[in-house]
Amino acid sequence: MQARKQSRTFWRAILTQPSLWAGILITLLLVGLGLGIRTLRAPLAPAELTYSALLSALDARQVASLEIDPGRELRGRMRPGAGTPGARETGFRVVYTSPTLDEVLHRAEAMGVTVAFTEREQHDRMAALNLLVVLAGFAVLGILLKRGLATQGGHGSLGEESPSSTTFANVAGNEGTVAELKEVVEFLRDPEKFGRIGARAPKGVLMFGPPGTGKTLMARAVAGEAGVPFFAISGSEVTGFLVGLGVARVKNLFRRARKRGGVIFIDEIDAIGSRRGANRSHNEDDRTLNQLLVEMDGFSQREGVLVIGATNRPEDLDPALRRPGRFDRSVSVGLPSADEREAILRLHVLERAVPVGQDVDLGRLARLMPQSSGADLANLVNEAAIVAARQGAVAVAWGHIESARDRLLLGKERTGFRASDGEWQIVAVHEAGHALAGVLCCPEDGLHKVTIQPRGQAMGVAFFSPADDLHLHSRRYLESQILKGLAGRAAEEIVFGPALVTSGARSDLQQTTRIAKEMVYSLGMGQSTGLVAYDPALPLSTETHATMDRDVKEIIEGLYARVRQLIETHRAALEALARALLERETIGGEEAVAILAANGAEPATYAS
Ligand code: ADP
Ligand code: MG
Ligand code: ZN
Repeated sequence: MQARKQSRTFWRAILTQPSLWAGILITLLLVGLGLGIRTLRAPLAPAELTYSALLSALDARQVASLEIDPGRELRGRMRPGAGTPGARETGFRVVYTSPTLDEVLHRAEAMGVTVAFTEREQHDRMAALNLLVVLAGFAVLGILLKRGLATQGGHGSLGEESPSSTTFANVAGNEGTVAELKEVVEFLRDPEKFGRIGARAPKGVLMFGPPGTGKTLMARAVAGEAGVPFFAISGSEVTGFLVGLGVARVKNLFRRARKRGGVIFIDEIDAIGSRRGANRSHNEDDRTLNQLLVEMDGFSQREGVLVIGATNRPEDLDPALRRPGRFDRSVSVGLPSADEREAILRLHVLERAVPVGQDVDLGRLARLMPQSSGADLANLVNEAAIVAARQGAVAVAWGHIESARDRLLLGKERTGFRASDGEWQIVAVHEAGHALAGVLCCPEDGLHKVTIQPRGQAMGVAFFSPADDLHLHSRRYLESQILKGLAGRAAEEIVFGPALVTSGARSDLQQTTRIAKEMVYSLGMGQSTGLVAYDPALPLSTETHATMDRDVKEIIEGLYARVRQLIETHRAALEALARALLERETIGGEEAVAILAANGAEPATYAS
């Protein structure tokens, strides 16, 4: 199943390569053209022979073959004369009248010459058809090339020349970035003014930031605020394409923008702008990048053109791009903070005119979506509206949002998923273990809910969400993350015995190992390693490596012993929560905390 899927995606990847199709098309055209020329030339070229000359040629055994087009003409091939070595057969034609045909056929038969009947008309039709196919082929190729040149943006829309309608009002959060961009808007509105006061106006702005953080949105807003057209292209669209096409598209883009001024947006600029020569397979990409540099140097600041490039890999960019007069400004766009997330949610609820119920607290929702981008949040609002609509509700209620969020974070509910009662018991104990350890040792992360409803890859989950975005992590916090992560396995082991622990802890172990490694390798929190940071570029002695790995192991083993102890002490609370889960599948955070507390597991406070 997996293999089949892979091979399908493999073929899809191959078949969607534009250069492959262009190659096939050109080959077909050349072959077609060749055939067409042959069919056209063969019957047209031959010399005309008189009737009597044909008869004597037949007698002299010079005729190699004959073709008869009844009612019109005779065609044939003549052997080269004996005295001309190396010469090839030549074609001839004879216009005949019906009565004379008998004689020719007679003699041809006697001399053993093969005779074929064809219709010249059909021949013509074949040639005409061939020509038509070739012409159609060229037309298609032409259209493809033209579209290749003109297409822009990821939307496949053609040159968006009308001014963009997006403004900064469509952007929430990102105040610093927006403030910087407002400056360049001033310049776009009145490029002459900058020239007059002798200020050097910006030509290019680079935006750095992870996907979905609103880079495209803000570039569009710059154009919208300035009332100029927005031209977009994606670096990945012009790489590895036909020879010269990347260059041509870049030229075309600048030519159009320079006519009336505008914003040229180059998304994924690292695809063309990564270091020349370094780890790239395409020479062609270098030419595209060079063309971009030439174009940027080539226009004057008074033309009112601004180039905005976006990437999430600034370290890959060719330094030549960032010289003065090119992309000499850069702004970075980060993932939104909790407050910004709330503002983005609010904006999208407003923009889409989604009616929202009384019980929806967007601030709370924002805190439940740590590490989410603006695009994730927009998606969440949209998904919640869909859930509500599907249930026939008049407004989006908190429940709709919950289920949209689960769906986005964990994947779809697995309907029809069957597990044995024994398996459910294990999952319930495992998740209750995570919940218990989290509540006991990690006050920073509130328990949002615990569920044994299977979704995506997981059979269950204990959801925590930090009350605030944390930027600094104490050793205690990191340790509590590991404790929480190991608690699922520890609970299984305590309740069912070491022989029955399951594969359910796979991703838990990956995560805890990652944190422990980080502590030792980068954060100077390893017992014996001390304050040394590991640099992958520098070789390490084998001993240092061994010490680090020993430290990692020690951290994990020490914490595992501690979490086992915690769970043994609070086994009654663990089992009470597991039972509740088996009965009701999903338990809200507050209620879960109450069940644990009622059974002797009091939540931790910051002081402890
Ligand atoms: P990027 O180009 O950084 O990958 P996009 O600009 O394409 O991100 O963002 C995708 C969508 O996410 C936007 O169209 C918008 O709906 C939403 N979005 C992202 N950031 C914001 C924001 N700061 N304010 C409002 N909407 C946002
Ligand atoms: Mg984008
Ligand atoms: Zn787990």
